[in-house]
Amino acid sequence: MTATETEIPVAIVGVGKIARDQHMPSIERSPTFRLAAVVSRNAHVDGVENFSTVGALLEARPDIPALALCMPPQVRFEAAHAALLAGRHVMLEKPPGATIAEVRALQWLATDKGCTLFASWHSRYAHAVDDARQWLKERAVRHVSIVWKEDVRRWHPGQDWVWQAGGLGVFDPGINALSILTAILPHPVHVTTSELSFPQGRDAPIAARVDFANGRGAVVEAVFDWRQEGPQTWDIDVVTDDGTLKLSDGGARLAIDGAKRHAGDDREYDGLYARFANLIATGTSDVDLSPLVHVADAFMLARRVNVAPFDDDSVSSA
Ligand code: NAP
Repeated sequence: MTATETEIPVAIVGVGKIARDQHMPSIERSPTFRLAAVVSRNAHVDGVENFSTVGALLEARPDIPALALCMPPQVRFEAAHAALLAGRHVMLEKPPGATIAEVRALQWLATDKGCTLFASWHSRYAHAVDDARQWLKERAVRHVSIVWKEDVRRWHPGQDWVWQAGGLGVFDPGINALSILTAILPHPVHVTTSELSFPQGRDAPIAARVDFANGRGAVVEAVFDWRQEGPQTWDIDVVTDDGTLKLSDGGARLAIDGAKRHAGDDREYDGLYARFANLIATGTSDVDLSPLVHVADAFMLARRVNVAPFDDDSVSSA
């Protein structure tokens, strides 16, 4: 696409898997944004200006009003804080930070500076999520089952940060399920029990079982596992007083009482950039911390189980 005067220049910070797989293609397709620069410690992106620190970008390019932060959550606060302080709009990859308090601080700063802060939850833009929310709106939820099982070697090869404190372990993908759950249920839930399985020598869990309640009698159970080989599972099943709903493929497919309603293309990040554009245009922010609150509560209530060590042989065997 040819750049126009009206496009908003945006910079990507952290050029890893998600920046290349999703952010760059979505910006390329976006009618509103154009990629103007990147900040990377290691990578180089052709056709745009490359910086090695956020500080250097902010100083050199006052014409870039928006940044998309795609680095791991443990190192995102400092960059977000500097960008907001410099009066820039910020999109945070999920999870929005390593702690709840740091994201609240960013929220406060964004308001103070009159900037947009967008704590993005890409799974909420999966094809069938909005229809699921609409269908559930008038129904009483009886039972919810989340099964989120994938192969960490396939999706996170060589990513040490996911295993370090603040990397969330299996909740890195699991929080996507919680971002859908918190978007579709008509009433909030809260964690009641949690069991986290830690591989020997790792600071983050490889598997988790979490139960929730909603004060209205609903039973909500979630199972997250990173040791799933073969077919991968990202399903949410909801039983109501008036039928059952199944969201599968991470929210891309919807079936009601077994009848398929929806199957769509993966264009979650196009939705995110459209939302970011709208937030900037309207001078607003979107920061919903509820998925992160559930993960924090799961850690607070956790019964810890020690499991076999995890050896990341994915890089050498890939
Ligand atoms: P990644 O491949 O490891 O890339 C992260 C990038 O961040 C690195 O390549 C690095 O880029 C930069 N970085 C800056 N400081 C770092 C540090 N201390 N340690 C490691 N990297 C650092 O990770 P990713 O999969 O893109 O995930 C990044 C974020 O996107 C996470 O919050 C994740 O939850 C989210 N996300 C990932 C996926 C997915 O499918 N992978 C999907 C949705 C959301 P430079 O070398 O350029 O500095």
